[in-house]
Amino acid sequence: MAAPHAAPSSFDERVDTARQAAHRMRHHILNMGEAQGQGYVGQALGVADLLAVVYRDRLRYRADDPEWPGRDRFLLSIGHYAIALYAALAEAGTLDVAELETYGADGSRLPMSGMASYTPGMEISGGSLGHGLTVATGMALGLRHQGNPAQVYDLLSDGELNEGSTWEAAMGAAHHRLGNLTAIVDLNGLQADGPTGTVLSAEPVVDKWRAFGWYPVRVDGNDVPALLRGFEELAAAPADQPGVLLCDTRIGRGAPLLETREKAHFMRIEEHEWQLCRDQLDEVNDR
Ligand SMILES: [Mg+2]
Repeated sequence: MAAPHAAPSSFDERVDTARQAAHRMRHHILNMGEAQGQGYVGQALGVADLLAVVYRDRLRYRADDPEWPGRDRFLLSIGHYAIALYAALAEAGTLDVAELETYGADGSRLPMSGMASYTPGMEISGGSLGHGLTVATGMALGLRHQGNPAQVYDLLSDGELNEGSTWEAAMGAAHHRLGNLTAIVDLNGLQADGPTGTVLSAEPVVDKWRAFGWYPVRVDGNDVPALLRGFEELAAAPADQPGVLLCDTRIGRGAPLLETREKAHFMRIEEHEWQLCRDQLDEVNDR
């Protein structure tokens, strides 16, 4: 079964659908962030475009049956990006938009870090970091053994490219020729301890993934047409090779007030700034 939102036929319509979804998701992210007054809002705004493309254009799932065995699996290795996935799951119809108001509250199904046991559509409890791709590799291998044609996607961060376990998984996935596995890397240039380029650079990332036996495609992760084409290129790649979409994203994308913020990993956003951010989102969207 296709995703509940049947893919429109023309490329332009698909771009439009994903862009509108990303815009709504950014509003959801800011609204949830405001309820807590802080959070990983910058990263979430940065990956909104790629999550919109994944959930509106790529994944096969049943919104009302998150455990459907035939679903494509989307793994959030970076559990601290949960706020972004909740916005995507609301856009997908797996969560009600009204439930987003409970984000981070006691008793909510939407904790601040992703928990598979709490949230429908959350496949794994991501973080400690560096584990998502290992789980995804095992899952893709298992699905293939079962003859299940579902695809496995794992979203990881550029900080996770500093984890040895990520590269062990990469080596294993290529060895087992897991063509049903796609990694998506959020190259936002930042990790908890500072800029990735100064903490421990993973460049040249395209060459590294290729050397590990993967089919790499690098795109501007905030460019919806480029994301659509990137996933199409991966889908057309050799069927016995795992693929990786390397996405250069901008932290805070859509709200210039946050894009230029210096302390961007775990942002503090003042009370009066949330509405400014929402206004900026709408201005950017109107251009
Ligand atoms: Mg990062």
